[in-house]
Amino acid sequence: NFRLAPKIDAQARAALLRPNPKLDRALTNSAAKGLPPISVLPLAGQHLSIFTQLLGAKTVLEVGTLGGYSSICFAEAGAKVTSIEIDPKHRDTAAENVQGLDVEVLLGAAEDVMPSLAKDGRKFDLVFIDADFDGQWELFDWAVKLTRVGGCVFLDDVVASMIKNGQTEEKSESILTKIGQDERVKTTLVPTVTSHPMHPTPVFNGFVLAIVKGH
Ligand code: SAM
Repeated sequence: NFRLAPKIDAQARAALLRPNPKLDRALTNSAAKGLPPISVLPLAGQHLSIFTQLLGAKTVLEVGTLGGYSSICFAEAGAKVTSIEIDPKHRDTAAENVQGLDVEVLLGAAEDVMPSLAKDGRKFDLVFIDADFDGQWELFDWAVKLTRVGGCVFLDDVVASMIKNGQTEEKSESILTKIGQDERVKTTLVPTVTSHPMHPTPVFNGFVLAIVKGH
């Protein structure tokens, strides 16, 4: 039934999403500025927003701002958002797109900014990682340090990164193996199938959700 994914995806988008001028303007402005169309898809953004509300998250740390699409989803769900972005053009565009919302965008590489946030004693209710596919374990490790006990780490695109990095064999040292050995967290993998406008066929992906038990 994989082939039905595009139809059901389209139906879900039409049925479940409401107009959101701020998100629409963010996408239009990001495209005009030449940013790549790789923000979370609208239903995934809605999921982030619902998840923020379910968790009652008041503080969210995001890794990978791009044009601020997902930042808007968190902020509109009632959270104060701190977002890290390595690319100055993306940061500037995001700053325009999130005007009027409680979002601060920090310019820098996450692997530098996260340790400095930890040094300042910062803790967040939710950490969302949506940056590059290669340093996911290091980013996850810092994310756990930066999450309050009982808070949550959301690591996006884990399946895509495992496929890209040849970690699909059971015996390989995959990100899942490493996370599974981490006693600080209770974790699951949530598999997803989406029909992305950029891909002709449905894409199998998935994200990791981890609740922090202790540090
Ligand atoms: N969360 C965004 C959204 O849904 O609108 C999409 C983020 S996009 C998939 C990934 C972003 O992470 C890009 O803007 C990229 O420049 C940024 N990035 C990549 N590596 C990074 C790093 N090491 N530190 C901080 N940002 C990084």
